[in-house]
Amino acid sequence: MNQLDQRPYFFDAGIRFTCRRCGACCTGAPGIVRVSAKETEAIAVHLGEPLSRVIETYLTVWEDGYRIKEADDGRCLFFGDGCRIYPVRPTQCRTFPFWFRNLRSEARWKAIQKECPGIGSGQFYSKADILTLLFDEIP
Ligand code: SF4
Repeated sequence: MNQLDQRPYFFDAGIRFTCRRCGACCTGAPGIVRVSAKETEAIAVHLGEPLSRVIETYLTVWEDGYRIKEADDGRCLFFGDGCRIYPVRPTQCRTFPFWFRNLRSEARWKAIQKECPGIGSGQFYSKADILTLLFDEIP
């Protein structure tokens, strides 16, 4: 990561972002949201539901953990009137929009910016913060 820190990026001056909880990234087009076994346990505790029920209702096996099931319209099953698991949301959700695929070019970032109203204001993320989140998200 030290070597990556030295390289110039379009986000060298940092980026402001605060999630508006609009749900635009949790609904619509289908996608895969990975959930680790540890994250699954935290979700069950947060919902106050047995682990087996959470797995059966909301998740399906994916790689070495799970992925969240989606409704027919692409909505995340944990998304009701807002995210029902926000404090314990999976790493993939917690690190959005600072994903490698979004940050690999400024053009890609501008496209994501149009979809996410949380980008551009709110909490300041330095280059180091962004790189840390980026590496957190990579499985
Ligand atoms: S699109 Fe952006 S502002 Fe809306 S819920 Fe997702 S991260 Fe938050």
